[in-house]
Amino acid sequence: MKTIYMDNNATTRIAPEVLETMLPYLKDLYGNPSSAYSFGGQVGREIRNAREQVAALLGASVEEIVFTSCGSESDNTAILSALQTAKDKTHIVTTRVEHPAVKVLCNELTKRGCRITEIPVDREGRLDMDRYKESLTPDTAIASIMWANNETGVIFPVEEAAKLARNRGILFHTDAVQAVGKIPIDLQESAIDMLSISGHKLHAPKGVGVLYVRKGTKFAPFLIGGHQEGGRRGGTENTAGIIGLGRACELALDRMEEENTRVKALRDRLEKELLSRVTNSRVNGGGAERLPNTTNISFEFVEGEAILLLMDEFGICASSGSACTSGSLQPSHVLRAMGVPFTMAHGSVRLSLSVYNTDEEVEAVIDKVPSIIEKLRAFSPFWKPEAQACASGT
Ligand code: PLP
Repeated sequence: MKTIYMDNNATTRIAPEVLETMLPYLKDLYGNPSSAYSFGGQVGREIRNAREQVAALLGASVEEIVFTSCGSESDNTAILSALQTAKDKTHIVTTRVEHPAVKVLCNELTKRGCRITEIPVDREGRLDMDRYKESLTPDTAIASIMWANNETGVIFPVEEAAKLARNRGILFHTDAVQAVGKIPIDLQESAIDMLSISGHKLHAPKGVGVLYVRKGTKFAPFLIGGHQEGGRRGGTENTAGIIGLGRACELALDRMEEENTRVKALRDRLEKELLSRVTNSRVNGGGAERLPNTTNISFEFVEGEAILLLMDEFGICASSGSACTSGSLQPSHVLRAMGVPFTMAHGSVRLSLSVYNTDEEVEAVIDKVPSIIEKLRAFSPFWKPEAQACASGT
């Protein structure tokens, strides 16, 4: 059975071009880039090239790129650095719908005396900008607002949020793990101070990420020890991973147009057809500006986990909520923050596409999913008309 992979917000396949670029550095070119001899030096040169490729995708300069191990490390580093460099400030502004890499860290920081403000979102997942403005205080060390939500694809106005923070002398970080490579980003004229990237979300391997740190931003490293990354992140470099990420950024720049036309059209077709074929279904965040590749659809009165299991029988890979939290049976914190009714939030499925998806795959999903929902609803006690009336309070 052929795998139909539509879980690209969880992770992506390594692009063949990326793998090919990496292979020599996993085999023969194993030198340490910090070595004095040319066998290591040539690896160092390729890392510099990768830094240029990442900087080009972001509209940044090479000195602003710090390689890390993943998006989570980048997020943690940014927030902890802000607290350390502004020692008298203990307030963090973030949102109710962040990825756990930010959310759980912020929860932990409350135990160390930090005050956290989580800005709410509306029914479509849009950020409450008035609440955001009000929340910025002289005590705020950092505002950390994600660029695009991993579960719904909803895009936040981070440029506007960054300007508001800068006007008050507050550092601004964005978790752009889901945005980079999918929508254009240009940090040259931006007020964003720090930005996180994860390699495995844009067809590079797992185990590599980036923290962009604007020139002049006060910074305290998270991993201390080595001189690597200009002393901003100790540890011998993941050379193959970094070189692969550089190539992936170059490819992402080339494929941005396709992502926003062909991939978006596939996503839109999926949504339109599934909504028209399945009653009591809705797109979460459908009224907001969204990433071109993501749809989060709720099918009322069925269990998201059960839908995934039956989809798996047809080789279809999707997710209910973020991959990191799908082990839990709690409805997703993102959908709860949006006020999605319980019976809808439980039956939500995220389909996230990439340039590797085809028309045929989309047709197969459109063909299979409605019958899966019908089958599950036949077993659902809540689907009976009298129970529906009871659940909705009518
Ligand atoms: N931030 C967002 C928005 C994500 O979607 C993810 C991964 O799902 C992360 C951070 C964490 O990235 P990584 O898996 O590289 O640690």
